[in-house]
Amino acid sequence: MKNVSDFFGCKVFDDRVMKANLSAKVYRSLRKTIDEGAKLDIGVANAVAAAMKDWAVDHGATHYTHWFQPLTGVTAEKHDGFISPSPDGGVIMEFSGKELIKGEPDASSFPSGGLRATFEARGYTAWDPTSYAFIKGNTLCIPTAFCSYGGEALDKKTPLLRSMEALNKQAIRILHLFGNDDVKCVRTSVGPEQEYFLITKEMYEQRRDLRFTGRTLFGAKPPKGQEMDDHYFGVIKPRVAAYMEELNEELWKLGILAKTEHNEVAPAQHELAPIYTTTNIATDHNQLTMEIMQKVAAKHGLVCLLHEKPFAGVNGSGKHNNWSLTADGGVNLLSPGETPYENAQFLLFLCAVIKAVDDYQDLLRLSVATAGNDHRLGANEAPPAVISIFLGEELNGVLEAIETGTPYAGTEKTQMKLGVDVLPKFNRDTTDRNRTSPFAFTGNKFEFRMLGSSNSIACANIMLNSAVAESLKIYADRLEKAENFEDVLHEMIRKTIKDHKHVIFNGNGYDDTWIKEAVEKRGLLNYRTTPDCMPHLLDEKNVRMLTSHKVFSEAELKSRCEIMLENYCKTVLIEANTMIDMAKTEIAPAVSAYVLELANTAAAKKAVDESISCSYETRLVKKLVILEEQIAVKTDELEEAVMKLQDTEDVETESYMIRDAVLGKMGELRAACDEAEAITAKKYWPFPTYGDLLFGVK
Ligand code: ADP
Ligand code: MG
Repeated sequence: MKNVSDFFGCKVFDDRVMKANLSAKVYRSLRKTIDEGAKLDIGVANAVAAAMKDWAVDHGATHYTHWFQPLTGVTAEKHDGFISPSPDGGVIMEFSGKELIKGEPDASSFPSGGLRATFEARGYTAWDPTSYAFIKGNTLCIPTAFCSYGGEALDKKTPLLRSMEALNKQAIRILHLFGNDDVKCVRTSVGPEQEYFLITKEMYEQRRDLRFTGRTLFGAKPPKGQEMDDHYFGVIKPRVAAYMEELNEELWKLGILAKTEHNEVAPAQHELAPIYTTTNIATDHNQLTMEIMQKVAAKHGLVCLLHEKPFAGVNGSGKHNNWSLTADGGVNLLSPGETPYENAQFLLFLCAVIKAVDDYQDLLRLSVATAGNDHRLGANEAPPAVISIFLGEELNGVLEAIETGTPYAGTEKTQMKLGVDVLPKFNRDTTDRNRTSPFAFTGNKFEFRMLGSSNSIACANIMLNSAVAESLKIYADRLEKAENFEDVLHEMIRKTIKDHKHVIFNGNGYDDTWIKEAVEKRGLLNYRTTPDCMPHLLDEKNVRMLTSHKVFSEAELKSRCEIMLENYCKTVLIEANTMIDMAKTEIAPAVSAYVLELANTAAAKKAVDESISCSYETRLVKKLVILEEQIAVKTDELEEAVMKLQDTEDVETESYMIRDAVLGKMGELRAACDEAEAITAKKYWPFPTYGDLLFGVK
């Protein structure tokens, strides 16, 4: 039996390693940079670099890389050897502070959304000392931010760090107002629950749709799907268990706190959740987790699908972003307090989140928008595209009582006034879980459930942090000027509840009547697709908020909007072309081959005896011939719709055409093919079916 504590974090240059390998002075200086953002001097950087290199070489590393997260959604790395020639003809292993702090990858091949035209083509990467360096294979990976020479962010980490700083600044103002003068730092923590599918590599290889797009573009409904609810939390199959075991080990070596694993609702679907940590580290870890999941799967003859909707008709995969605010690494600000005064502070932070989510529904929605995730959110699957907040019965009762100035039934106190000693004590409400809410309060944290399984969690957290920073700023501005702190506080909380209660919904979020009520009665936004929501990134109110907190510049926002839309268009276009290809070269020929067999069988029967019935073959042939014709027509129509895109001038128009024309045609082609699949002999079908894929891993 392996002892996890013996090897946990063995591939990470973490605090333990730093302490052991750096002089006390260098260690202190580095800690100051990590904890308080103090500037690092080159002497310290040189000492850290040397220690890092020695440690890495001892652990088998030959190369180093600045590891970063460009806007492609995956991570990027360029490896450099540590070797340097020595005068005697040999080599020495070298790594300087300068190389640690800054790298210069060629930025021109990464998406920049127009920033390249205005700014220099070169970019640079800058070390993020708040996220530990680690070893992957033979390479020391140094987490970095990626910027253009003009200082414009070209990655997801930079704005994430900026948003954390914005929130830190505003939250500290509020805490100081409540008399917590010693608080130095407020950080957000995140625990992302990651869903995924596992299928066999052998079957994956036979499907071009999976290989090119990560999802199935065809596939008739199998006789059995998830209707029996027998997979969720079910016994884990031996092959999957072996995979999970190795995955956990690899993650633990990298210091990732992989904690919970279980089967999910759909067949072949599973989930992994780590223990939560500081948001930027959680983000790095989640990117690494997704990468390692795929690598380990390959070793087990499996493929890990991280697409949001790999299969129609069964659940898609999401990522739940559990989020909370912590002061000085300890106190959770979203935890109801022990005393009424602490509870007033808690309620203010709670209100800040409610206000933020309501005011910036659009930003939260677009932070998770991708072509893949549209299949979940747009279809009101899990959760819907409408953003609402679940609070639970008890908190809801408290807020209602505050709003209306009526007694709160959950306590003997008859009068509710905040900030003073009459505030009721209420308990953490962790029992009442609502799995259908896109944004649920779960006792001491919020769970944002709209993220797709392949999304980087950076985007959602950038928007969430920034929006909450904005609420807190508005509160702090008022409270700092207040003559009577408690009166203003009480009034502000009451007003927030009154103005924003329409975003609170404790019922079933999957219900169609809710969507109707949300949109028609409550005026909540319902952006079903990426093209519906993405352009709102540039709405004046959003630009104003995000630039005022210095999370993005206007140019960065424009570039991001363009990149996200481009990404949407390219994704769907690849899918459309893959469908055309598969329909023409695999599906249509398979159907015709089967028709030929049926016709031959009928003819052979007749040759034996003219009176033998061929009605089975005849009926089937007739049906299949109609479907063959439909497949041909629908393929042509899809091709035409794709051709039309060539004339579009800008990416926004193109995205609308894709939403309105291309996706519909893809659906029609699929319907005809799936119908044919259901009545074509299995031996003719050119690739594994849904039944094979979903129940293939034993
Ligand atoms: P669920 O019932 O949704 O699976 P869990 O309590 O198991 O909920 O937690 C899910 C995730 O939330 C885990 O990653 C966990 O570490 C994380 N989490 C727990 N507490 C917090 C917190 N205060 N802040 C952020 N994440 C948290
Ligand atoms: Mg959860």
